[in-house]
Amino acid sequence: MKFLSTPAEARVWCQDQRKRNRTIGYVPTMGALHDGHLALVKRAARDNDVVCVSIFVNPLQFNSSEDLEKYPRDMEQDLALLRQAGVSMVYTGTLQNFFPDIPDPSQIKVTNPCRAIAGLEAELRPGHLEGVQAIVERLFQTVGPCRGYFGEKDFQQTLLIREIAARQGDIEIIVCPTVREQSGLAMSSRNQRLSTSARSTATRLYQALNAANDAWSNGQRDPRALQSLLMDALQDPAITIDYATVRDPDNWTPGLPETLDNKAQALVAVTIDGVRLIDNLRLAQD
Ligand code: AMP
Repeated sequence: MKFLSTPAEARVWCQDQRKRNRTIGYVPTMGALHDGHLALVKRAARDNDVVCVSIFVNPLQFNSSEDLEKYPRDMEQDLALLRQAGVSMVYTGTLQNFFPDIPDPSQIKVTNPCRAIAGLEAELRPGHLEGVQAIVERLFQTVGPCRGYFGEKDFQQTLLIREIAARQGDIEIIVCPTVREQSGLAMSSRNQRLSTSARSTATRLYQALNAANDAWSNGQRDPRALQSLLMDALQDPAITIDYATVRDPDNWTPGLPETLDNKAQALVAVTIDGVRLIDNLRLAQD
């Protein structure tokens, strides 16, 4: 497995793979890898000749410097896991060498924000999705034509990624299901920071999503009723709710949609014990 410490070297490596007619499966990450990331790697390995993974904790997408500092990092273990998974190339970089053309990349502003930057994460974490857009555009430019693998766990982010890829034109996006712990808790690098009791409280997220899914299966289609049900299911003194709501996954709206037809996405974001967690579930008729 090759480990490259700059995007410039990664670009050359990817160009060389394409010259050899090899298809590239690309998995962008922020490291502190878990089975959710590894599921993306596995799928990329199944679909492509070579797999490339990036590990970069992107400062642009953190709207709190404390959150950025506390974000877990373990490069050595990540590389061991990726080597074991048969990855061909891993690359990393610094903000400066991702944006060599910009004097102070920490102040970067996206000039063409995607439509998915509206509501929920955009409201609760101002600047977060713009930071994701800025880095993902660079990551895709670095790797070039490829298949990109992303987790449904970050649902609003997947909408943003699809828009970026559509603009770029030569990247195919594959969204993979959320990998969960046995308790139902969605795997996340941030889970490392949960105390035992917070980890147990955090199982309420998936329970709330399932309660909404049960109501949906019983015919509930009223967005307000589904939202109330999610909010009620999350009532707990240890949980601070950012949002608990539903959206039409095919027609993203900043606010609650007036009506829902045959599909809905239930989405929740909370803070437990100082750790922000998000999760979501597709409500759909089989
Ligand atoms: P991150 O390192 O958190 O930026 O995540 C890198 C990629 O892994 C993103 O596409 C995430 O959506 C995806 N991911 C994170 N957690 C999970 C999970 N539990 N299941 C599936 N994909 C995940």
